[in-house]
Amino acid sequence: MLVVMNVHATQEQLERVCEEIRQAGLSPHPIPGSQRTAVGITGDKGAIDPERLQQLPGVVKVIRVTDPYKLVGREFKPDETVIELNGMNIGGERLVVMAGPCAVESREQLMEAAHAVKEAGATVLRGGAFKPRTSPYNFQGLGESGLKILAQAREETGLMIVTETIDPENVTLVEAYADILQVGARNMQNFSLLKRVGKSKRPVLLKRGISATLDEFLMAAEYVMSEGNYNVILCERGVRTFNNYTRFTMDLSTIPEVKRVSHLPIIVDPSHATGKRDMVIPMARAAIAAGADGIMVEVHPNPDEALSDGYQSLTPESFAQLMVEMRALSAALGRQL
Ligand code: PEP
Ligand code: MN
Repeated sequence: MLVVMNVHATQEQLERVCEEIRQAGLSPHPIPGSQRTAVGITGDKGAIDPERLQQLPGVVKVIRVTDPYKLVGREFKPDETVIELNGMNIGGERLVVMAGPCAVESREQLMEAAHAVKEAGATVLRGGAFKPRTSPYNFQGLGESGLKILAQAREETGLMIVTETIDPENVTLVEAYADILQVGARNMQNFSLLKRVGKSKRPVLLKRGISATLDEFLMAAEYVMSEGNYNVILCERGVRTFNNYTRFTMDLSTIPEVKRVSHLPIIVDPSHATGKRDMVIPMARAAIAAGADGIMVEVHPNPDEALSDGYQSLTPESFAQLMVEMRALSAALGRQL
């Protein structure tokens, strides 16, 4: 259900509606909008009488919501979500470019990557300190010392940091260093992790699961939002198909469909989607052309020596080329970079 407040409704009237919802054993989610504030109601327990809400001061109307996704859906929130982070916007007109190595390997490697992507125009630095790898014998990341290196790179370059958190116990540590918490494809349905990042103050970059349907992807975002964290950035990173010439299949049609049903920003990761360096630039172009709000790409100062995902990592030179193209594309599409 959605309670639509009068444009002139006071803070006290809003609070009264929220209290009424809480008392029925449900959760209120105030949603400020360009026209008016609404209050979304979620929860599996309790029932609330719409008539009773309708009569509270400041309430215009109470609407039954038919979307399976509540907080994620456009029915609850018609306006696009724009996430403000350190004076920068993610979503809306703005395209965001997140770039950096798959994993933080050393101080030298990360600083070199950070300076290169910064110079080319990226605003967010990526790099995993905790790596959920297919094999337990592969490099698992530097852990907290990797996070410290990322924080140093932020100090030196002013880039914001996005890095992966792998389980609920690990979130407190990662949120102490990161600007954006990444939930990886393999954890998209780790519901206890989703609930924990839902309690964080940091925005969440949620990657689509390897075989997740769009409904499952959006429901994972709903888990995060239902805990009160509304700053979710979706990331299409390819799904598994019978196609065997790329690592995954980049599902571009998710972009217009997500835009239709949801207000959340969506970016694309053409590095993991293709697994091949020479496909990253063409597929990044395609993602932006299809309406994505940005890209996440892997860049390594020396891809052939990378400890993970070197074959899909761009060199700093090819990343700079990609950024030239991003600028031209954003201008052509009336967006800002
Ligand atoms: C990553 O971005 O480093 C990563 C592991 O990606 P994904 O979770 O999409 O496989
Ligand atoms: Mn990777």
